[in-house]
Amino acid sequence: MRMDKRTFLKMCSAAVGSRMLTPFSLWPAEGKLTNWAGNVVYSTQKQHIANAAADAQEFVKNRNNVKVLGTRHCFSTIADSHSEFLSLMSMRQVADLDEGVRTVTIESGMTYGQLCPSLDTKGWALHNLASLPHISVAGACSTATHGSGEKNGNLSTAVSALEFIDAAGDIVKLSRKQDGDAFHGAVVSLGALGVITKLTLDLQPRFTMKQYVYENLAFSDLQQHFDAIESAGYSVSLFTDWQKTINEVWIKVRVGEEPEFDGPPQFFSAKRASKNLHPIVELSAENCTEQLGVPGPWYERLPHFRMGFVPSAGKELQSEYFVPRGNAVDAIFAVQRLHSQVAPHLLISEIRLIAADELWMSPCYRRASVAIHFTWKQEWQAVRKLLPMVEKELSPFRVRPHWGKLFTIQPGDLRAQYERLPDFVGLCEQYDPHGKFRNEFLNKNVFAR
Ligand SMILES: Cc1cc2nc3c(=O)[nH]c(=O)nc-3n(C[C@H](O)[C@H](O)[C@H](O)COP(=O)(O)OP(=O)(O)OC[C@H]3O[C@@H](n4cnc5c(N)ncnc54)[C@H](O)[C@@H]3O)c2cc1C
Repeated sequence: MRMDKRTFLKMCSAAVGSRMLTPFSLWPAEGKLTNWAGNVVYSTQKQHIANAAADAQEFVKNRNNVKVLGTRHCFSTIADSHSEFLSLMSMRQVADLDEGVRTVTIESGMTYGQLCPSLDTKGWALHNLASLPHISVAGACSTATHGSGEKNGNLSTAVSALEFIDAAGDIVKLSRKQDGDAFHGAVVSLGALGVITKLTLDLQPRFTMKQYVYENLAFSDLQQHFDAIESAGYSVSLFTDWQKTINEVWIKVRVGEEPEFDGPPQFFSAKRASKNLHPIVELSAENCTEQLGVPGPWYERLPHFRMGFVPSAGKELQSEYFVPRGNAVDAIFAVQRLHSQVAPHLLISEIRLIAADELWMSPCYRRASVAIHFTWKQEWQAVRKLLPMVEKELSPFRVRPHWGKLFTIQPGDLRAQYERLPDFVGLCEQYDPHGKFRNEFLNKNVFAR
């Protein structure tokens, strides 16, 4: 039986309430270790929690197969294991703040939500954040997690050095400055290179932001004014259910940027909202970051969801596809043509831009991209039939899926989209010759020959 959107959202609110009691619990009531959404029950329940790098090194040395778990926010099985998990989530100290070269070095169990307020207090900021701050920095950078903004690279582009444990249990250090191309291969590691223990991130001076939300932008405006819409702010997100309009346009502005968007009452055909909104307009905005042009620190405006609240709609599935920015409008309209099939199973879609980067396994490797995201109802049977339809529409645009979200693209087609994949496989073989850090997802999508 298909559930209507209202009933589904009611259930989601209930789920959000119950999750708030134990937001970081690894073990839900049923006693099984699952990902955040609960759509992946991990294939092993064995987990070692390391409190120090030496402990993690010893663990790696004595195992044939190891998978690191971060904050478990991936919807795909990229983080799954049939052997044993290693968690570094209790290792979350700032190891070094080097104000001279503008970098911070953190232990890999730290989340953005833990890092950002303390960085801000010291006068520093990161260039961008994802839609929510609850994810681990190491997990996010390993899968090329991104925010929005045509000039902003994904979150992994802020990594300037990393330290990891290789399959022999030895510590390896790589940096942008000293290791050039190999470093570009190591940052978006998909968990296949080793156990990341420390990450060094680029900083910039703290900045103030404000965000404005507009409702009901006509699709025809998107067609005619896509570049102007996307360049209106530092970060722009378009939310749509693909039916009549772009339901909401979120424009995040850096105070002092030139020219500074000042939130006029009308933005093309869209009207400025007069109260805070959730991306799904039917849901309460109380867990969303402040809007209405109210100035605030960067880390409380770049994400859509506040740190103190459990994000989004709780029970959901997610997929996301990247195509070159030059094909953005055609790709958006290709998906829009599927609206009658997509809409019944969708909570909301989000469209974001990401700048090109040099990271071998990033979906934005050497191409500025538009990312078309789907937050689905948790109706996997229906969604798994829809994904090939969406993927077929996007295939003329050399589509790449988000590594951490759900997709059905065939492994051969996926590998063909990554020109540096053979180099990545070689890099992994150098540090992990016997595949200690691999799992079914990686064997199928990356390492199969
Ligand atoms: C509600 C919600 C909102 C989201 N919003 C966004 C968004 O705005 N933009 C976006 O791009 N994505 C988004 N995502 C996806 C998410 O950010 C990524 O999938 C990210 O990888 C999650 O990090 P994690 O620590 O939870 O990863 P996990 O699922 O725990 O692990 C992901 C991968 O990283 C590896 N890994 C983690 N830590 C380490 C380590 N220390 N050493 C080696 N490997 C490691 C794991 O082995 C695995 O391969 C969202 C997900 C959810 C649930």
